[in-house]
Amino acid sequence: LASGLVANYCTELHDDQAHKVDTFLHHFQLSDETLMDVSLRFRREMDKGLCRDTNPTAAVKMLPTFVRSTPDGTEQGEFLALDLGGANFRVLLVKVMADGERKVEMENQIYAIPEHLMRASGSEFFDHIADCLANFMEKMGIKDKKLPLGFTFSFPCQQTKLDESILLSWTKGFRSSGVEGKDVVSLLRKSIKKRGDFDIDIVAVINDTVGTMMTCGYDDHLCEIGLIVGTGTNACYMEQMRNLEVLDGDEGRMCVNTEWGAFGDDGALEDLRNDIDREIDAGSLNPGKQLFEKMISGMYMGELVRLILVKMAKEQLLFQGKTTSELLTTGLFQFNVALLQDDKWYSLHLLGLDPSVEDCIATQRVCQIVSTRAAHLCAATLAAVLRQIRDNKAAEKLRTTIAADGSVYKNHTEFSRRLHKMVGRLVPDCDVRFLQSQCGSGKGAAMVTAVAYRLAAQHAE
Ligand code: BGC
Ligand code: MG
Repeated sequence: LASGLVANYCTELHDDQAHKVDTFLHHFQLSDETLMDVSLRFRREMDKGLCRDTNPTAAVKMLPTFVRSTPDGTEQGEFLALDLGGANFRVLLVKVMADGERKVEMENQIYAIPEHLMRASGSEFFDHIADCLANFMEKMGIKDKKLPLGFTFSFPCQQTKLDESILLSWTKGFRSSGVEGKDVVSLLRKSIKKRGDFDIDIVAVINDTVGTMMTCGYDDHLCEIGLIVGTGTNACYMEQMRNLEVLDGDEGRMCVNTEWGAFGDDGALEDLRNDIDREIDAGSLNPGKQLFEKMISGMYMGELVRLILVKMAKEQLLFQGKTTSELLTTGLFQFNVALLQDDKWYSLHLLGLDPSVEDCIATQRVCQIVSTRAAHLCAATLAAVLRQIRDNKAAEKLRTTIAADGSVYKNHTEFSRRLHKMVGRLVPDCDVRFLQSQCGSGKGAAMVTAVAYRLAAQHAE
């Protein structure tokens, strides 16, 4: 009887707290109907970006990548790759074996990019990249070889060919000056030349979504979508050339980098953004930009939770109305929402708070609501991409694979579970397989380079 009473008490306590938070955050909860509407809106934004007349003013840029085919397994060679723009900066050496086994061997090293360099001038920034590359080549004993290199640069870029990529705008935490509007390949080549102690052949610049898709595409031929939910969020997919009006030519397909993080930058999501979303944006490095990304990705999720906790405390709904300087500090709460959800007591303690059981339950609920909204919004845009591909193929039922990567997708299992489930609800007529890619963004740059080499060799024949 006693244990029954305790269990009862716990359930009641839990329900009370959940109810309190749900009421407070009702504008964070999006119905299936609303998500379907978001999905339709995003499909219209995709069209806007693809069409020649509307592209110049489109918020969602739908950028051509000049990647026209996924790997066929016959690629081979030794390639260098750089992976810049996620949580880590990485240099990789990738060996692709053509012995019919689809084998890829890889060495890689993570290098730090000190905070001050992220804000330094473009030339200092790229000098540092060249230094890291030199260090890596020395370690691998390949400094005297002129290897082909693929560069994963995970920011919106305008490309005119595979090895030219003009940065449109920095996103996430980066803001090195004098790079926007410039070709990042030229900047990197200049820094390498300045050192003068090694040479490389920069063959391709790609987005991390493209790298992710290409890595999985090596193993799974149905893979035609790349998804990242990490520090930032974005997706790419294989589009028909005839729909890509900004480029001439109607034959075949090309991978399009949607840059969906900028969805809403023209006001398309104003009815769904709330006061907390506006507060995050106002305090960010790029106000008014990447509004969809700021509702979803890892760089902002912890901050969303922090701002909600502050607001609830101020309204006497949490921590007996108390706040601490830690809780009130931007960024100091940049921990993983998944972790907070599992270990709320410890996390809250780190913020100098002395949470009650009620506070812990309520905090867990806040995390759950914030990450569920993120997963569901992602599902909505992903559903739009799936419908586009299905319509392109005039298929009644689409079977396809989505390559996925990013710290939120990989480490927050509840996030990916909710994402998968909602995609199933929004596009029940698609048979979707999610494939988690390992080191995909960097390895993919080597794959793109390998494919470019194979194609060049075929043309030479
Ligand atoms: C960038 C994208 C990138 C995404 C994931 C966004 O902030 O604009 O280019 O793919 O982050 O890294
Ligand atoms: Mg065209």
